[in-house]
Amino acid sequence: MRNEVRPRVTLVGAGPGDPELITLKGVLALNKADVVLFDALIDRTLLNHAPEKALKVFVGKRHGSLKNPQEDTNRLCVRYAQEYGHVVRLKGGDPFVFGRGAEELDYIHQFGISTDVVPGISSTVAVPAAAGIPVTKRGVSESYWVITGTTSNGELSHDLKLASRSKATVVLLMGTKKLEEIVGIYEAQGLVDKPIAIIERGTTVEEKVVAGTMVDILDKARTQQVGAPAIIIIGEVVRESPKLRAVYEEVLCEHKLISLHNE
Ligand code: SAH
Repeated sequence: MRNEVRPRVTLVGAGPGDPELITLKGVLALNKADVVLFDALIDRTLLNHAPEKALKVFVGKRHGSLKNPQEDTNRLCVRYAQEYGHVVRLKGGDPFVFGRGAEELDYIHQFGISTDVVPGISSTVAVPAAAGIPVTKRGVSESYWVITGTTSNGELSHDLKLASRSKATVVLLMGTKKLEEIVGIYEAQGLVDKPIAIIERGTTVEEKVVAGTMVDILDKARTQQVGAPAIIIIGEVVRESPKLRAVYEEVLCEHKLISLHNE
């Protein structure tokens, strides 16, 4: 006779990309998985933490293949839990930072299935950190905002206008397609020297970093072909990265040359 199935779901944050940046608790949950449902941004080597016999199912969004991928993922999660027992829902970064983790839990709770959450290291702090950018630093920035470039209606969040008026570090997710609009918001306030960095696939071997100011970032992003998935970091802290020092020393030198010319 089959053992009695006890349905449960653990929502696990997989970390920002580097597979070593998952938490120990996340690995332990994977060790005990009957089914793993994973997204597109998940490093596949993480699946090796799950038992060989566990079912591993990709639920990333594939254009055109599913009418409503989120709804289907929720349904799958419940069905697998009822059929197999312990489902680990592996999500990029932290499940509650723009990850729709809360929505998934709300759905699962309707079926009386018990759930756990294992937080993850969010790309919002880890990706800047890996590029040497501290999101806060004494005397430079005393807060940081994490803002979406793509709200549920597809628009850049209006919060960016508020954040741009403050001294806060701004971390934008899902914003690469809105770069012109983002730069425009800062330009409109005369903040053309504001440092900005775009980091694609941070903490992974494919990491790409482009940095500059509001004056040159559009050109740089185009010529260096930086694209999604990427994080945009705006604020004086970007200058603090030892890895980006050369970029900003260059800018300083250019300014000095221009003012010497004008004397
Ligand atoms: N829950 C996740 C964020 C999900 S939203 C977290 O806490 O990190 C997905 C967006 O996050 C991507 O479009 C991109 O803007 C950003 N992102 C996630 N991982 C990233 C990485 N390794 N490098 C750059 N951006 C990343």
